[in-house]
Amino acid sequence: MKPKTIIEPFKIKSVEPIRFTTREEREVLLKEAGYNPFLLPADDVLIDLLTDSGTSAMSAKQWAGIMEGDESYAGSKSFYRFEAVIKSITNLKYIIPTHQGRAAEKILFSIVGGPGKYFPNNTHFDTTRANVEFSGAEAVDLLNEIGKHPEIRADFKGNMDVEKLETFIKEKGVENIPLCMITVTNNSGGGQPVSMQNIKDVKAVCNKYGIPLFLDACRFAENAYFIKMREKGYENKTPLEIAQEMFSYADGVTMSAKKDALVNIGGFLAMNDDELAMKCRNLLIVTEGFPTYGGLAGRDLEAVAQGLLEIVDEHYLQYRIRSVEYLGERLVAAGVPIIEPPGGHAIYIDAKRFLPNIPADQYPGQSIVCELYLEGGVRAVEIGSVMFGKKDKNGKLIPSMMELVRMAIPRRVYTQSHIDYLIEVIIEVYKNRDRLKGYQFTYEAPMLRHFTARFKPII
Ligand SMILES: *Cc1c(COP(=O)(O)O)cnc(C)c1O
Repeated sequence: MKPKTIIEPFKIKSVEPIRFTTREEREVLLKEAGYNPFLLPADDVLIDLLTDSGTSAMSAKQWAGIMEGDESYAGSKSFYRFEAVIKSITNLKYIIPTHQGRAAEKILFSIVGGPGKYFPNNTHFDTTRANVEFSGAEAVDLLNEIGKHPEIRADFKGNMDVEKLETFIKEKGVENIPLCMITVTNNSGGGQPVSMQNIKDVKAVCNKYGIPLFLDACRFAENAYFIKMREKGYENKTPLEIAQEMFSYADGVTMSAKKDALVNIGGFLAMNDDELAMKCRNLLIVTEGFPTYGGLAGRDLEAVAQGLLEIVDEHYLQYRIRSVEYLGERLVAAGVPIIEPPGGHAIYIDAKRFLPNIPADQYPGQSIVCELYLEGGVRAVEIGSVMFGKKDKNGKLIPSMMELVRMAIPRRVYTQSHIDYLIEVIIEVYKNRDRLKGYQFTYEAPMLRHFTARFKPII
């Protein structure tokens, strides 16, 4: 028989209890946290969907690797394993460990960035953009048009606009574009995948002008699985073979291992260019550590190496992508407005359509985030005008383009019944949406205000 039920492709050896609270308790806790779930102690949260970064459950083999890690300062055995596994997937020549993704970005853009330089990407992730801009260069998003429409269903909404890329190169000049990047999957665009054809097309344009192509590969395995499911000619390839082909078009990679390497900390930078690698290693020694550990312990290198072998397992990826899709399907069936189709690592509720009566300056996304916690102890994050809103010169809010609530799904942490519980909570909140209230700030920091802001409900 071909079973219809997709099961978690693991059994559970070690468990971590989660703490139940009552609605009355959560009302007090949320008020104390200034109606900002970022300020809640994690122990007061039942299902934590704040991020999929660094929140994965490690396998028994990864924990065994933690014990086996070789902590030699130079030439650690664990480094050679780390290097060998990454080479077997990326086929890149130089593998440089960093303590997380942004450290790889910081090193790369400190060397190739600077004033007058431009870096195109499908969509820069926040830390990538910040590191490009910190160097004095400009970060440019060239996402294809369809990726900008949350209501349109399409297979590869993470694709870069290849025509725009070529026009952009001609306009700014090859000499001012040290490299081009593609983020797989496109995190800031909702975890939407990029097709192999698009990677090839971008590579062809880059080759024409002699510009290196780098992948921001945080979720390369999830992207590979989407290619297998959706792109003609890849249905019979393994996720590893697809990933290897993706990387064959890349001259370099930055990666946060906190995503698709199934670890709680780690990252790397990889490339083929001899001179660039030498410069990166020299800077690594100043900011991260010796080139064979780069800001990580030997045990972390072991855990990353093992995680990268596990992430390309087809059963794992099927379960991973399907469980996010299942959550999306059930919400859509109940009429809850979400971004469609779901990406690989998260579901985004469209708060504008969910709460059409709460205007942007009363933060509909924040209202949903608060109610998810009150209703079911679920922690999600507002990605809308709280996070991205700007102010005009009179202090009036310039709203974000979209008002979203992100529920990111940690890897291998929650089971089907957690997801079913979550669906119940969201649908209950949706049914009672007429009772939801807007929020106003009572405190906000001048920068990155969403992390520390405090609110009160508007009564
Ligand atoms: C998380 C992430 C990063 C940054 O990695 P950190 O490990 O958080 O520093 C960069 N790019 C993308 C696409 C990411 O998702």
